Amino acid sequence: MDESSFILGVDLDGVVGDFYGSLRKIASEWIDKPLDTLTSDVGYGLEEWGLSEYGGYPRLHRFAVTQRNLFRDMEPIKDAPAVLRKLSARGIRIRIITHRLFLKYFHRTSITQTVDWLDSYDIPYWDLCFMKDKGAVGAHVYIDDAPANVKSLREQGCYTIVFTNSTNTNIPGPRADTWLEVENLVMEALDEWTTGTLNLFGAANFRG
Ligand SMILES: [Mg+2]
Repeated sequence: MDESSFILGVDLDGVVGDFYGSLRKIASEWIDKPLDTLTSDVGYGLEEWGLSEYGGYPRLHRFAVTQRNLFRDMEPIKDAPAVLRKLSARGIRIRIITHRLFLKYFHRTSITQTVDWLDSYDIPYWDLCFMKDKGAVGAHVYIDDAPANVKSLREQGCYTIVFTNSTNTNIPGPRADTWLEVENLVMEALDEWTTGTLNLFGAANFRG
């Protein structure tokens, strides 16, 4: 891995963008039910919204991106763009790693909306990786919200911060509930990396 700069691997959906909040509004329209009948307290698979009888999650996802511009119009998570600007200004290399291409045939739309969204919120990044295997993309610290990703990254020895939402409440820390907490955790890791004490393979990172 490039050791000339400190690399922060950042997931987008549920970490920088309010994926679940934005998708909930679109799902309400798609299944034609009032918004307040769709719980915000969802698990990773969104089973709570009863999407299967309407064709299932992949169909909603396709509708949300191609017809409602989900990746272009998503609200950012509070403080995420500003904290990423601060971290970038301190010399941290922001590497975005997202698995947004998991469905076929609208990759161009997904990528275009993603780049436009990042620009429109002035979110700094050096690298933009559309990847499933996030551990294959080198980073000194990762931040992700999906339980399976956090577990997999930690099993590979990657220092991974879990960003809190309803899908990951049972995952052990290190954890950030807000982007101000992300900032503190990342700055601590940067200090440790700078002084050569960052323990990427420490036992604490295997608790997931
Ligand atoms: Mg995510």
